[in-house]
Amino acid sequence: MNKEEAKERIKKLREEIEHHNYKYYVLAQPSISDFEYDALINELIQLEEQYPDLKDEHSPSQRVGSDINKEFSQVRHRYPMYSLDNTYSPEEVTDFETRIKKELSGTIEYVCELKYDGVAIALTYRNGKLERAVTRGDGIQGDDVTDNVKTIKSIPLNLRGLDYPAEFVIRGEILFSHKAFEQINREKEKNGETPFANPRNAAAGTLKLQKSAMVAKRPLDCFLYSLVGTNLPYRYHYENLIKAKEWGFKISAQLQKCRNIDEIFDYINYWDKERENLPYDIDGVVIKVNSYDQQEELGYTAKSPRWAIAYKFKAEQAETKLLSVDFQVGRTGAVTPVANLKPVHLSGTIVKRASLHNEDQIKLLDIRIKDSVYIEKGGEIIPKIVGVNKEKRPGDSQKIEFVRYCPECGTELVKPEGEARHYCPHETGCPPQIKGKIEHFVSRRAMDIEAAEATIDALYRKNLVKDFGDLYFLKKEDLLSLERFADKSAQNLIDSIEKSKEVPFPRVLYSLGIRFVGETVAKTLAEHFQSIDKLANASYEDLTAINEIGPRIANSILEYFKKPKNLEVIDKLKKAGVNLEMEEETTEKISSELEGKTIVISGSFEHYSREELKEMIQKHGGKNTSSVSSKTDYLLAGKDIGPKKMAKAKQNEVEIISEADFLKMINH
Ligand code: NAD
Repeated sequence: MNKEEAKERIKKLREEIEHHNYKYYVLAQPSISDFEYDALINELIQLEEQYPDLKDEHSPSQRVGSDINKEFSQVRHRYPMYSLDNTYSPEEVTDFETRIKKELSGTIEYVCELKYDGVAIALTYRNGKLERAVTRGDGIQGDDVTDNVKTIKSIPLNLRGLDYPAEFVIRGEILFSHKAFEQINREKEKNGETPFANPRNAAAGTLKLQKSAMVAKRPLDCFLYSLVGTNLPYRYHYENLIKAKEWGFKISAQLQKCRNIDEIFDYINYWDKERENLPYDIDGVVIKVNSYDQQEELGYTAKSPRWAIAYKFKAEQAETKLLSVDFQVGRTGAVTPVANLKPVHLSGTIVKRASLHNEDQIKLLDIRIKDSVYIEKGGEIIPKIVGVNKEKRPGDSQKIEFVRYCPECGTELVKPEGEARHYCPHETGCPPQIKGKIEHFVSRRAMDIEAAEATIDALYRKNLVKDFGDLYFLKKEDLLSLERFADKSAQNLIDSIEKSKEVPFPRVLYSLGIRFVGETVAKTLAEHFQSIDKLANASYEDLTAINEIGPRIANSILEYFKKPKNLEVIDKLKKAGVNLEMEEETTEKISSELEGKTIVISGSFEHYSREELKEMIQKHGGKNTSSVSSKTDYLLAGKDIGPKKMAKAKQNEVEIISEADFLKMINH
């Protein structure tokens, strides 16, 4: 690979990794396995090492993946939270130990621990009381999830004994046991909701729920694995953890001190086998240097401590027979071949089906019906076939014929240039695609209508809803004719649909599900064109004249408004009274002190909430925006302001003002 090619590949890898980070950390819905993700990261690290001038401090190889969710308030960590250096290779564990021995003098003690597969949390205790719980976030600041964490029974709200430091932080991993996970998924399936793919996603999703009463209903658990503070009882990691147990924390019983590499491998090998008997998921083992003095001597990289390493176990595999193949059409029209298997045990569950991805993958692995295949669990709920045991191939094995027509609506499939998957192009007439659009429309960040997948399915099958526009013309009697509905639940759905008429235009635009029009693009378009009619009449030139809109988005918008079916749906929304244009500015002006000024608010403030400050800006003629750019006049900075915003303000020479400065400006 020459430098130009490496540059392209690095760019592509960074984009792809950021995309997976978002799905994994923020949405808790990964679409690839950790093994595949780690392969991408490793490829990126290698290329960046080969071409050091292409390195970038913002590259995902240099930063902790962020779980920040804007619906919570962000708090700066007193002590930054790092990730761990990961490896799947025993040789690299040996290299780690060799390096440590070389860099340190004196006796070295290691602590081996299980690597819990959940969500990292930092708990601050003051005078023996839980004060705050913050997620890892981007390592520098995280989401304040204190209310949710307080519902976790194994986290003490008050400490036992008296010998704890006045203030300290304890970190751990929030997770679900297998049993709790299965119970939650059973519940979800009963309610017609999509089940969680694995306990980690379930824990991440639950911790970020907006209502702590909902969190309290699910039995989250928490293992604590490290203490941080200035006045801890010992200068040793292990000894502090044992002490913390006395204060009431749940500390793993599997902690073990090791003196050398042989003992480390004994621990690794034992847990690689024994993990299937644990009541919760672990994805590896963590090896740490025990002494804080030695830890300090070794220090940190930008992303992880040099005194620890995580050895990750490979996903468990099973071998079974491929019986037949079905073709499934997804919400986007993508066609996935799904294998029906002879049922087999894998990581605590019985597997009957597995994904075969696409036609190329089938050819690449040379899979045939009646073959004996290896399966593995990835990020998704459905496992995948990763190989074939050719030695067991029977004489009557059969080639897999990929379908040419959509198994749902009969339309001829297409395979777009450069894509591996086949698609059904009949977006507006193919049942799973129609249902997919409705599901997107009702989702929380879109119109926020409380309709479960099973409800949508039933409404569609009964012909009561053929597109999301029909939702607005549903009557309570229609719902009562469905099996799942009683008077109260029917009324709730009707009310929730009614309430969605208040959703502002930018979110309505996002809800339409126009390809490539995500939340940010929808907001830009709504602010620019002000109404759906103006957007529908925009030309290619009008669209691409907007800064963030490129040819791909512009073409997709033009395509969307060309289709009569889409115009029909919009018409239904219009008739129903959904917001299809920006609302008039209703804020009553009291002065023009801030006329023409753009102000970004960040951090928390002493006297006013951010919402109140925003309103004040508008009342005095100013404009409040969310991100700092060269167009920003002031950054109104409070406590715990994000370092990135600050840096951006400095870079753009934006004046930074305090709450007091601001109040003075408007003569408050
Ligand atoms: P990590 O999960 O590999 O390791 C760090 C984390 O381990 C800590 O933050 C902590 O939460 C946890 N941990 C559990 N037990 C611990 C113990 N005893 N001591 C210390 N820490 C312990 O690193 P990460 O930065 O959170 O995530 C990176 C990994 O996440 C990747 O390597 C990948 O496997 C996975 N990931 C997957 C996807 C995907 O799409 N599949 C996307 C992003 C990340």
